[in-house]
Amino acid sequence: MPFEVKVDKDTCIGCGVCWSMCPEVFEMDTKTGKSKVVNKLVKEDDESKSIGVVPDELKDCVSQSASSCPTGAITMS
Ligand code: SF4
Repeated sequence: MPFEVKVDKDTCIGCGVCWSMCPEVFEMDTKTGKSKVVNKLVKEDDESKSIGVVPDELKDCVSQSASSCPTGAITMS
């Protein structure tokens, strides 16, 4: 089952850990220097590009990114 991931852009500090660990899901938003979800996984109509719908096979790298994020900005549901 696909799952949802959310990047909280208020708490993200743009450290780069998530897009280093899991570039299939996260990348730097060049406008803000903070994390965003890669375009092909962005949830429909989410203009902020902070919510993604992610296939199960990427769950490990997303959960590792979530636990490594220094500000707890990544949540999964
Ligand atoms: S690991 Fe957390 S703080 Fe660092 S860029 Fe990713 S979401 Fe932002």
